[in-house]
Amino acid sequence: MSVQEYLDKHMLSRKIEDAVNAAVRAKTPDPVLFISNHMRKVVPSVITKIKGRQILDSRGIPTVEVDLFTNKGSFRASVPSGHVTGMYEAVELRDGDKGMYLGNSVTRAVKNINEKISEALIGMDPTLQSQIDQAMIDLDKTEKKIPLYKHISDLSGKTNLTLPVPAFTVISGGKHAGNNLAIQEIMILPIGASRFEEALQMGSETYHHLKAVIKEKYGEQGCNVGEDGGFSPNLSRQDSYNLLVQEGLNLVKEAISRTGYGEKIKMAIDVAATTFCIGFGFVYGDCLLSTTDPVFLLRANVGTKYDLDYRFENKSGQNFKSGDDMIKMYEELCAAYPIVSIEDPFDKEDWEHVKRLSDLGLCQVVGDDLLMSNHKRIERAIHESSCTALLLKVNQIGTVTEALEVVKLAKDAHWGVVVSHRSGETEDSFIADLSVGLAMGQIKTGAPCRGERLAKYNQLLRIEEELGDQAVYAGEDWRAT
Ligand code: PEP
Ligand code: MG
Repeated sequence: MSVQEYLDKHMLSRKIEDAVNAAVRAKTPDPVLFISNHMRKVVPSVITKIKGRQILDSRGIPTVEVDLFTNKGSFRASVPSGHVTGMYEAVELRDGDKGMYLGNSVTRAVKNINEKISEALIGMDPTLQSQIDQAMIDLDKTEKKIPLYKHISDLSGKTNLTLPVPAFTVISGGKHAGNNLAIQEIMILPIGASRFEEALQMGSETYHHLKAVIKEKYGEQGCNVGEDGGFSPNLSRQDSYNLLVQEGLNLVKEAISRTGYGEKIKMAIDVAATTFCIGFGFVYGDCLLSTTDPVFLLRANVGTKYDLDYRFENKSGQNFKSGDDMIKMYEELCAAYPIVSIEDPFDKEDWEHVKRLSDLGLCQVVGDDLLMSNHKRIERAIHESSCTALLLKVNQIGTVTEALEVVKLAKDAHWGVVVSHRSGETEDSFIADLSVGLAMGQIKTGAPCRGERLAKYNQLLRIEEELGDQAVYAGEDWRAT
């Protein structure tokens, strides 16, 4: 390379001229020093060396310090630590060797800095913060941070991370909507999907076909949605049957047939029957009496009626049903529709009938209002074989640890467990990770519609993507995982 080519390649004439001009403009008393500092500034920064070491924090507990060298200078930083290390935080990598600083030494973290992180960052411009952070995040995935579902799986001692079958609410009634349907939810379960991603697609497509079916029959107004995103049309009775729930199930059946997925999609209902249960005193959804009240227990077992027309002002009484009538109705519904799960088929104190329905083995019988995720009620239900699945509402229990305890109770009894949202939700997606970490096989978190419901479904998509080849969708094993 000639001298001229060299000068041109590095644009030296231009840079020196700029430095001289800057010194002249500044009228500096020491132009050589000025030009030398000016030249240092225009040289791009580059990380030349990284040196990590173990130091002690203010409590005398090991932590990490790093010296970072660039062509322009050196910089030092160290890491604080606290007592409360929440599950959403990046994990502190401590050696765990009780013989060294009682398990708190950080030599593995230091080794990672001096080897893997150094290797990734040397040569980078230290001012490119996001690129540097990304390079460390890329390493971090395998080295430090633990995804929430993995943390839950570690806590529960489970090893088989599993994507749950979603129970999408597609029609809402009862307390979740203002229409005339007494039962609270009609759900669809894409059990025949091969991946969660496919299940979500099947759910969404069915939901949109259902919208069209409802619009054709009930107009735009019928497409208003309830609290959990299910459509809530005011249903009309047809000649061939006299139950509104049949009309609702028929709409969903038609929507499924339009998707072409056929048997791959099953149905479920949450009857939430406490809402329309009438005791002797004609109190709807009697919430006032305690479980141990002998008078109420007598009512529940002997005099309880279920009013499937509870939203109608002028009712004939023809749809007042006894517990036995309700069992007959469930038998007929299970024979006519692909129903694989019924939640709260009776009042929350009607232990007798829920057991009788479970004994028939028609489908999964889920206890929600019946159990209230309460340890004692779950123990009773297991003891009396009252139902075959638990609806797990973590906020009813209060803590993750207690949730894990009741899940263990349910699983030891060979029950299914449905991880559940609430009708009043937020964008928090914790229950998505919970369902994967506990490998429960089932999640119920509303329609594939509304942001707070999709926050959970979208998180499941991300988890499936992150697990890649390791991802397992519960599918046909939705109850057995
Ligand atoms: C349910 O009954 O299953 C449910 C999610 O409702 P809520 O949150 O209103 O108890
Ligand atoms: Mg329920």
